[in-house]
Parts: sequence; structure tokens; C-alpha cells
Amino acid sequence: MVQWVYCFGGTRNEGRAEMRNLLGGKGANLAEMASIGLPVPAGFTITTEVCTAYYKNACAYPDDLKAQVENALRHIEQAIGMGFGDKKNPLLVSVRSGARVSMPGMMDTVLNLGLNDETVEGLASSSGDPRFAWDSYRRFIQMYGSVVMGVPHHRFEDILEEAKHALRVQDDTEITAEQLRVLVKDYRALVLSETGKEFPTDPHVQLWGAIGAVFGSWMNPRANTYRKLHDIPAEWGTAVSVQAMVFGNMGDDCATGVCFTRDPSTGENVFYGEYLVNAQGEDVVAGIRTPQPMAIARAEDEQKPMETVLPEAYAELSRIRSLLEGHHRDMQDIEFTVQKNVLYILQTRSGKRTAAAALKVAIDMAHEGLITQEEAILRVPPSSLNQLLHPALDPKAERTQLARGLPASPGAAAGAIVFTAEDVEAHAARDEDVILVRIETSPEDVHGMHAAKGVLTTRGGMTSHAAVVARGMGRVCVAGAGGIQVDYKAKTVTAGGHVLKEGDWITLDGGTGSVYLGRVATIPPVLSGDFATLMGWADDARRLRVRANAETIADAETALSFGAEGIGLARTEHMFFAPERIGHVRQMIMTENPALRARAIEALQQFQRDDFIGLFRTMAGLPVTIRLLDPPLHEFLPHGENELADVAAALGENIEVLRARRDALSESNPMLGHRGCRLGITAPEIYAMQVRAIAQAAIRAAEIVGKPIVPEIMIPLVATEEELKRTRAAAEETIKAVIAEEGVELKYDIGTMIELPRAALTAEHIAHEADFFSFGTNDLTQTTLGLSRDDAASFLPFYVEKGILPRDPFVSIDQEGVGALVRMGVMKGRTTRPGMKMGICGEHGGDPDSIAFFESVGLDYVSCSPFRVPVARLAAAQAALQKREKTIA
Ligand code: ADP
Ligand code: MG
Ligand code: MG
Repeated sequence: MVQWVYCFGGTRNEGRAEMRNLLGGKGANLAEMASIGLPVPAGFTITTEVCTAYYKNACAYPDDLKAQVENALRHIEQAIGMGFGDKKNPLLVSVRSGARVSMPGMMDTVLNLGLNDETVEGLASSSGDPRFAWDSYRRFIQMYGSVVMGVPHHRFEDILEEAKHALRVQDDTEITAEQLRVLVKDYRALVLSETGKEFPTDPHVQLWGAIGAVFGSWMNPRANTYRKLHDIPAEWGTAVSVQAMVFGNMGDDCATGVCFTRDPSTGENVFYGEYLVNAQGEDVVAGIRTPQPMAIARAEDEQKPMETVLPEAYAELSRIRSLLEGHHRDMQDIEFTVQKNVLYILQTRSGKRTAAAALKVAIDMAHEGLITQEEAILRVPPSSLNQLLHPALDPKAERTQLARGLPASPGAAAGAIVFTAEDVEAHAARDEDVILVRIETSPEDVHGMHAAKGVLTTRGGMTSHAAVVARGMGRVCVAGAGGIQVDYKAKTVTAGGHVLKEGDWITLDGGTGSVYLGRVATIPPVLSGDFATLMGWADDARRLRVRANAETIADAETALSFGAEGIGLARTEHMFFAPERIGHVRQMIMTENPALRARAIEALQQFQRDDFIGLFRTMAGLPVTIRLLDPPLHEFLPHGENELADVAAALGENIEVLRARRDALSESNPMLGHRGCRLGITAPEIYAMQVRAIAQAAIRAAEIVGKPIVPEIMIPLVATEEELKRTRAAAEETIKAVIAEEGVELKYDIGTMIELPRAALTAEHIAHEADFFSFGTNDLTQTTLGLSRDDAASFLPFYVEKGILPRDPFVSIDQEGVGALVRMGVMKGRTTRPGMKMGICGEHGGDPDSIAFFESVGLDYVSCSPFRVPVARLAAAQAALQKREKTIA
């Protein structure tokens, strides 16, 4: 015989906490609490297997369920000494739903089940309190009527409100027994008129009605949607718990409440929660009266904390607070009821908490010896650190929302509106805070984005240029705020009936995507204390090294302050867009006169050498990977007549000749065009200039910091061994020349990006020419899926929403497809060169799920934007610990 029903409380305890899959979280924890002697009203749980069988079987119950439920009801009756349906001494029960994980969207709990016109009289005389009996009956019809029979909840509320109005009372507690009798009649009439059915009077019919409603709710649209959003399989099913009622609505020595063993918003170790005297069930949350705090320490002047109002029950609850926390070794969220000064526990589960609280609770509990250091590391969700690493809006500050876009890069920033990168720089030079507002951004805006406090765009998605670049430099960004109109000419921003001019202030919340009018106060992040402690523990636990993607000294410093162990990607092209350089870049590209080109290249080399000295000095001997020029020349071409005229003047060339050259150089699909090592091969003097600058800078910086510097030179967009062979040979020749000129030794590594499928597929050949591999998973995703990340915004969200792709593959690596290429690249590369150094430098380097994957394929390091470094350190530690657990198990 299959056991479909498990009893708890009284003298029969058949469940345990570990049985959450079978009994649901609520049922398993009720059984566990009863078994360790806590005051839990007796009851039983119908298993999740019944739910699964019910749906397999065209909504029919297993044959022997009825008998098992009857049997379990006897158990409650014996434990409580009352009879279900008994006219003199009626047992009332609650019917509660509970899946493995708590799930809003399921059926609401039905309380006081078992009441009818006869049992209510029995309850009135057995309790000696007719008002309480009729209040319970009134509540029962309201709950059962709405939850099980489908009468809109507010229809009952309307009747109750009318009654209170007619009786001139404020609170539900002031309605008398006689008046409640009338209300019950009105309620039943409402049920009849709304459903065409009499309210059921047989307690057994009521019970099966409620059980059926719980199982029915498992497949309702609300629950289905929630399951889909949270990846909960429909096969799990829900359990149903039926439990003897205890009453918080029997008078002023009764109460109901919800509490947390610690403060869920700060993590502070204080008793936190709310309760209501003479109330039942969800009254606390429903806001029918103002709930009161638990502890005296947390009470304001006119408040009435439970500690003073119900001291005995409070003392007992305090004892149970530490007992339950010790037992479950985590912060608990507890539901309780006090009946005539006696405390009952109705639920416990691990409490939801903010990022700050998760951090503090984990560290405190490890210090208290409640959990191990490893457990503390595993308790903090890495992505939640994002909330802690940036300034946040002051929760107390008033605000008026102007519009909403995508939360593209977290943090909060306020500043005056400006519309061009040049204006940003002008204001920033005067130390003024500005927000760059653009319809969309392009590489030419990067220097302005860097100098701004935040970036707002009205077009583009989470992987648009603005979003990726802003995240990279830790700038706040709200992208694609479609409700805002930008007029560059008039220099205005229009949204929601407001017209703002250049210089007017706005505030961005990059964590939510909200845009606010004016200046909203912010609070700074705290990176010391618990945060530093957790990071230290994570560093001890992880195997993967964590580097940062950075090219400016400021970004490198930020990366170091967040614990980066090197630079995994310095993009040299970002250095080309600064106003004093872009002219030379354009001259270099646009002229066909070798002497003029040499002049431009010479100018750029000075800049680059200084850039690299700065980077090497800042990193003081830590590894630095510098990528040679990667983007299509297309991106540097002069736009418009003015820029063209500037280049013509500088070169002393005819503007028409230059126009023709520009047209010849422009490409229709630049991302697959003349870029990466293809440039290095067709225009070798550019790479030669960069390699020379790197070699000279490494020698110079080594003298300054007094440590050897081994630059890692990285060739982008390699598809074949031959490409790398040629670029490598050219680079080595240049380095040899520098060494000869300088008369010193210089060690260096030359490696390549693996970012084209062909490179991964032929990695064993490419490895002959490479000292290291760095997987460029942005381009690898783009080329493997044939999906342009600049154009994906119009359909990718739809794909994810419909489940065609599980996640945005630019955010979390597509492990099955792109991941297979990474795995193959690692394996093949290391067959040629055992122990070859390998890392990853795409956006995925800061994504926790992707990091777990990179740990599993055996990469040596991940490189991510500076602000993601702590996230990556923690995620790498968790991945290492989980891997260790798996190998032990
Ligand atoms: P949820 O899953 O929404 O938390 P619960 O099943 O926990 O729903 O029920 C909500 C509330 O109903 C509980 O917090 C408790 O106050 C009340 N409740 C449930 N069962 C009982 C009971 N046997 N006696 C008294 N109150 C109960
Ligand atoms: Mg609950
Ligand atoms: Mg690339």
C-alpha cells in the first residue's frame, strides 16, 4: 500500500525536514518542528505524489486516499480531544497548500473549516465565547467562499464594510456576536446568488472541497506562470496540509504574527516582526489594523510590542527563535499564533533577505559557529553583490519618476543633462556631475560616457553599445527608455508631460531602469567589514584566477581595489577615440602616402607607449594582456563634411580623393569585415607600432616598478594557424629590434583570442603558434549563433520569453553550443601544449553560471569588467566548492 498521508503532532510523527519533496516545504517543516517538541497543532499532510497521480489520472484521487485521510482525521481528533463535525465539541481545521519551494500563485489557506449552523453553536458553548465562534464562522465563509467557490473576495469585504458603517464601528473586533450572525446570513446569500449553490454544511464535503481546490490550483494560470518564471517543473506537484486550528481571535490574550529570527533588511541579529492582538491568519499582512512590533528595542513610543503585551508567549517565542535558527542553521521566517497566552508555531522556513542582510547573516553565523566558512561563501548569491558595489538611491529620499527603461548597468547617479560626449568632457573638467543623454551611443561617445556619472539612451537593449560599455566601466546606465523623446537640436528631453532642458537634473537608477526628475539623494557602497571578510574567504576557496578588462589607469585602479589579479583584456582601440588622437587615427587610415602615414603612426605610438607604461606601472608586475587593434577600420572613418575637411587639411590632400577613399573603406557588414588580425596582415605597420609601444613600455615600466614585466600580446579574430604564424613572426621581429635598441632582456608571451568557431575547431594547430588562449565569448557567441548582438534586441527578448532560448546567450554562455566550442578549444589546445595558459575575456567572465562552466572546463582565469570582479571572485569560489562537493559525493 502506498502511504499517501503523513501525520504530525500529537503522538504520531511520520515526517521529517528532509522529506520536503514528498511533503512540501511547509508539511516537512511542520513535522520536523513537532518531532523536536515544538508546540505545533496536530495535523496531517497529503503528499505531492497524490497531486501527480491526480493529474495523471484525469483528476481522480488514488482509491485508498479517502480511507487514509479518515484515519488521519482520527489522529487529530485524538490528539486534540475534539470531533470533526461534532455538534458539542467541534474540531476545526485549516487546509494549507505547500510545494517543495514556496510558491505564490497557489491556493490561499482556508481557516476554521468544519463550521456550520450546528457546530458554530457547539463552538460558542465549548469556548464560552459566542462572539469568537461567530467571528470564526464569518471568516470561514468568506475564505471558503472566495478561495474554493470563486466568489470575488471584495464582495465579502463590501458587505463587512457596509456593516461596520451601519453599526458605526471602526474595527472588526467591535462587531458583536448577534451582528456577526446577520453577517453570516448575508454572506451565505451572497454565495448562493453568485454561484447558484448553497454553501456546503457537511464538514466532510467542505474538507474535500478544499483539498480539491489546492490540487486544482497547481495548474491554474497564475501558478503556471510562476513555475515557468522560476524553472519549477509541473511534475513536482503540491502537498496539502490539514491541521487543527488554534485561535488568535479569542480575545486580548490571543494574537497572530509573523517574525524573522534576524532583521531581513539589514541582517542585524535582532528579533524582527509584527503581530496583532485578537486576530487570525493573514490579518497582519492584510492590513486590517496596524500591526505592532515584536521587541521593545524595536518599538516606537506609542507602539505596543509583544514583549510587553504578551510577555509569557514572547519569552517562549524567543526561546524557539534561537532553537529553530540553531536547528536549521539559517535565518528563519516564522508564523505563530497565541491562544489564551499559549504559543503555537504554524510555519518556519528560511527567510528571504536583501543582499546586505545575506552578507551579514552569513558572516555572523560563521563567526557564531553556526555554519562553516564554506557554507557562508555558498550562502551569498554572487549577483547580489552588484547591489552592494554601487551607490544606491537613499530609500528615504522622495522621488518623482519621469520614465522607465532597461536596468542596463547598476548603481544610482544624478547629474545635469547633456547631449554630446564633448559637452560631458567640458562639464566634467569643471567637476560638474552630468548625465549623457543619447538616442543611442557609438564608439565615439565612449570618452564622454567615461566622464559622465551616468548614461541614458532611448533606444537599444541590454546588449546595446551603451549597455555593454557602461557595464564595462561601471558607469550607471538606463538603456532603451522608449517613453522619452530626445531632441538634439532643441536640446530637450520630453517625457510624461515634462520638458527638460540641457542642464536640468535627472537621477538614474541603473538597477531598476527608473529615471527620476531632479536630484535624488544616494548612499555610498561599503566595501570593508563583512564584505572584505567574505572576499577573503572566497579567495581561499577558489581555483580560478580573476582578472579585469581595463585599459585606462582609472579602470585598472578600480579593478585592483576590487581584487583583480591582472588585466585579461586591454582593448587598445578604446585609446584611439580620445579627441587628441582620433585625428591621427583618421589620417593613418585615410592617406595612401607612406610618409604621411608614417607621421600619423609615429604620433600614435607616443600615445600608446605612454598608455602602456601607465597600465604596467599601475598593475606593478601583475599579468597584463594587451589586445592589438581589433575593430573594423570602418568605425574610425570620418563622418560628415567637417571631419572629412579636418583630415584633408591635416594631410594636405584633396577632399574629393578622401571622400572616394572613405567610400571605398566603408563596409556593409563590418563585424565580419576588415578587422582583427586581418588588419594586422594587410596593414602591418599598425600592429608593428603597437607591439613596439608595448615592448618599450614594458622595459620602461620594469625599471620604474623594479620588477620584471612580461607583457602578454594578444592577436584578435584569428581563424587559421597561418594568420597567427604571420602576425606572430612580425611581432617577434619588432620585439627583437626593440631589445637590440634598448640593450636589455625582455620576456613576453604572444597568444590569441579564440573567438571564431574555426579557431576552436582547429585549436590544436593554432596552439603551435600561441603561448596562451583567451576565449572571446562575445564574438564566439555572435559567430556561433550567427546572431549580431547589435541587432538582436528586436527578437532576442521574445526568444527568451517563449523559451526558445533558455537565457540571453550574451549574458550567460550557451553551454551546449558555444560552451562545446570552448571545451573543445581547451582540450585541443592542451594536447599540443600541455598546461597551456587559458582564460576568457567576454562579458560572460562576470556571470556566475558561466563562471561555474569555465571552472568545469578547466580554464585558468576569467576576466571581466572591474565592477564585476568581486562577483567573479565569489562565483569562482562557489564553483570550486560545488565541484569539490560533487567529487566527494
Ligand atoms: P501561506 O503559504 O500563504 O503562508 P499558510 O498555510 O501558512 O499560508 O497560512 C496562512 C496563515 O494562516 C498562517 O500564517 C496562520 O496565521 C494561519 N493558519 C494556518 N493554519 C492555521 C491553524 N491550524 N491555526 C491557526 N492559524 C492557522
Ligand atoms: Mg504561511
Ligand atoms: Mg572580439
